[in-house]
Amino acid sequence: MQLGIIGLPMVGKTTIYELLTGNKEGKLTAGKTNTAMARIPDARVDFLSSLFNPRRTTYAQLEVVDIPGLVPGEGKSASVFLDAVRKADALLHVVRAFEDEINGEINPLGDFETLNYELLLADLDLIEKRIERINANKKKNQMLKELALLEKLKKALEEEKPLSSVELDEEETAIIQNYQFLTTKPMLVCLNVDEKVLSGSDYKDREKIISLLNHKHIPVVEVSAHLEKEISELSEEEKEIFMQEMGLTEPGIVKIARSMYARLGLISFFTVGEDEVKAWTIEKGTTAKKAAGKIHSDIERGFIRAEVIDYQALYELKSIAAVKEKGLFRLEGKDYIVKDGDIIHFRFNV
Ligand code: GDP
Repeated sequence: MQLGIIGLPMVGKTTIYELLTGNKEGKLTAGKTNTAMARIPDARVDFLSSLFNPRRTTYAQLEVVDIPGLVPGEGKSASVFLDAVRKADALLHVVRAFEDEINGEINPLGDFETLNYELLLADLDLIEKRIERINANKKKNQMLKELALLEKLKKALEEEKPLSSVELDEEETAIIQNYQFLTTKPMLVCLNVDEKVLSGSDYKDREKIISLLNHKHIPVVEVSAHLEKEISELSEEEKEIFMQEMGLTEPGIVKIARSMYARLGLISFFTVGEDEVKAWTIEKGTTAKKAAGKIHSDIERGFIRAEVIDYQALYELKSIAAVKEKGLFRLEGKDYIVKDGDIIHFRFNV
């Protein structure tokens, strides 16, 4: 799973990329993207780690790509941009809501729409080319279903609606999967605000953009990348005091990482022991047998049973022995749908 960070130039993308991944590659060189893994902070992993005191603690991770800013109307920047966006599974759209000397006044609503418009145009372009090709094809009669679907999608785009808003039946969903559309990708918007905003100050069009995003069912997080960067440079102790003073319960970057994970439909199950406490990433709806395969294909193949404990039970009782005593320990079969926070030990034949 890959998360692409997109936005206009100079909105704070690289700053956020560095905060998410801890990497310091600096500004992108022309035509390049940077990729690194971001750790998904998780208080449950912290707790399990304090309980088992393992040699190693492993958090869930997501691959993050810093994509060069799109300069609207500039063809060359657009092709690098679009190629990178096509590869991403989800998009973190960073929008500038802070003023600075270089960029001047802010226009979050306009900026958001400018970039979305480019994504719409790219999809429209793809569709029009495909329609043309089908119309010229001798076997056109065998492709009428696809043609009708493309016309329907084209209409939506012409009304400036993203393809994710179009209702599709099963057959249409299967057809659309052969295309790499951009406006079908899950998106999360990060409004990069001035730190004043976190202590109650407002900015231009704040209400408008937030209600627009709510209306479109796009999750939104307000973050001050500038302030987050300062926080990230503090010691743990200083961090706590500073955040308390700012009235923050957790760094915004943690919120982004978590929202992205959820937006991608991902959940975590845990394995625990003296050796390692580890969060494993699976898609919602994954069966126990498939989840076992995340750890090793041998465990999936030889799957017998999953021994499952709810995170909450272990959190309250503080030991596996106590959980077993209370009968809160379950044996599940291969078709069990793993839940977020399950602590699992797999039994398998070698
Ligand atoms: P990118 O071009 O979108 O990758 O943006 P960068 O992360 O490189 O940031 C562009 C410039 O904006 C840099 O000079 C940053 O220091 C500055 N910047 C980023 N975030 C903030 C912010 O929240 N507040 C202010 N005032 N400046 C910021």
